[in-house]
Amino acid sequence: MAVSDTSVSVAPEVLQFLSQPRPMLINGQWVQAASSKHFPVYNPATGEVMAQVAEGDKEDINRAVQAARHAFDSGPWHTTMSPSMRGRLMTRLADLIEQHAEEFAQLESLDNGKPLTIARVADIPLAADLFRYMAGWATKIEGNTIPLSLANQNQYFTYTQREPIGVVGQIIPWNFPLLMAAWKLGPALAAGCTIILKPAEQTPLSALRLGELILEAGFPEGVVNIVPGYGETAGAALAAHPDVDKVAFTGSTEVGKLIVQASAGNLKKVSLELGGKSPNIVFKDMDLQTAIAGAANAIFFNHGQCCSAGSRLYVEKPVFDQVVEGVAEQAKKITLGSGFNPATRMGPLVSDEQLARVTGYLQSGIEQGAKPLSGGGRFGDQGYFVEPTVLVNARQDMKVVQEEIFGPVVVAQSFQDPEEILPVAHDTIYGLAAGIWTRDIGKAHRLAASLRAGTVWINCYNVFDAALPFGGYRQSGWGREMGHEVLKNYTEVKSVCIGL
Ligand code: NAD
Repeated sequence: MAVSDTSVSVAPEVLQFLSQPRPMLINGQWVQAASSKHFPVYNPATGEVMAQVAEGDKEDINRAVQAARHAFDSGPWHTTMSPSMRGRLMTRLADLIEQHAEEFAQLESLDNGKPLTIARVADIPLAADLFRYMAGWATKIEGNTIPLSLANQNQYFTYTQREPIGVVGQIIPWNFPLLMAAWKLGPALAAGCTIILKPAEQTPLSALRLGELILEAGFPEGVVNIVPGYGETAGAALAAHPDVDKVAFTGSTEVGKLIVQASAGNLKKVSLELGGKSPNIVFKDMDLQTAIAGAANAIFFNHGQCCSAGSRLYVEKPVFDQVVEGVAEQAKKITLGSGFNPATRMGPLVSDEQLARVTGYLQSGIEQGAKPLSGGGRFGDQGYFVEPTVLVNARQDMKVVQEEIFGPVVVAQSFQDPEEILPVAHDTIYGLAAGIWTRDIGKAHRLAASLRAGTVWINCYNVFDAALPFGGYRQSGWGREMGHEVLKNYTEVKSVCIGL
């Protein structure tokens, strides 16, 4: 591992934004928190405060829900505005994101810690593409005509129509701040819903900048409201609000369960994209250099702060040492540093809390007998850096094997018989993703069919696309993000039956 310390400079418009970020977007206006309170936003590379952001609370959520309700019930958005126009506004938003791509990449890198080079090629283009892809669906939300099973065809004419679910609360995490906002806003807008978005308290900046572009694109007032604030206050108020029809959440499984409890008051609909502990399975017939590079990318991309991270590496016994040592070699070569250094391949974790969590897991794993082949602890004493770590000598019952670490830590174990891998792969509470590396296409498809995971990557990993549904089995969530599938999260189905 090396440190990188020469940085490119922050663009003047980003500095300007940081000096006075917009407060909160309610009913088309930038307004201060009812309490006038602010909270600090930290630069994770240095631990220094970068900006002060308005702290939304229950009262602000109430105002935002009222605005979204009014915009849904009486605004033009899903009543008089055509689906085509909704799509055009979304396309305009995608264009604006692209026009300001560098600014977004810089904000994202400063706020989250990720390398600027990654934000430029992943977060920002994927976010723009999501809005553009979903804009296409705005005009294609259709029902079916359905012949009744018992009635004679001349008796009834029956059809279904899909309608927007209404006012939607969206609570997002800090690992891909702009992209998670896009994953949530895109389909809800395409369906004709109105929204209250609560960004993560660690990374509220790009959502606020996006709010400026939403106004510039010309969305009607109250359609998108953005309220930054803490989870226990603003987030909880949104999840419990009686006038919110649906809540969509991405984050930890623990908080996902709280969201479900909070939603019970008015039985609002809930979709959840939660944690994972995804198995990445390498067979001995695979080209090992490809598998090694793939396994390293599966865990170290975005510093392991991906719900889909390939955090459990299972390698067939004869090639175990070679693969695991190869991944450890790759880990040792990763350059850590500020996201603004072009040489940086891994930045800091997002917060001191995450630093404590991840190093706590490392300590627990090592105490229980796991051995680091690379890394194993904090890197440096400034900022929230953790060494990319490969742990061997792991057992299934260890916390580092069972629980989501959400950092650059992979636990590697070997397996003897391909038949034994399925129960081991399923031996956590999660079911978000899985990886398979083999040249045997039959084996790959058989295993893909048996794995209880929302996404299975074969000879690739962490491939995301606006067209491809993503989400979890088991305790990894409810519903799917992206693709045609996500529109189900934001629509109700109405059956209409006409007596002939
Ligand atoms: P979290 O689940 O606490 O926070 C995610 C979002 O939920 C944030 O916007 C937060 O403000 C909000 N929130 C928190 N408590 C809430 C509540 N009671 N009611 C409503 N909203 C609430 O995630 P975290 O604390 O930032 O990270 C903890 C762990 O969560 C991570 O280590 C990781 O395991 C997991 N995580 C998963 C994802 C994912 O993409 N699936 C993303 C971030 C974190």
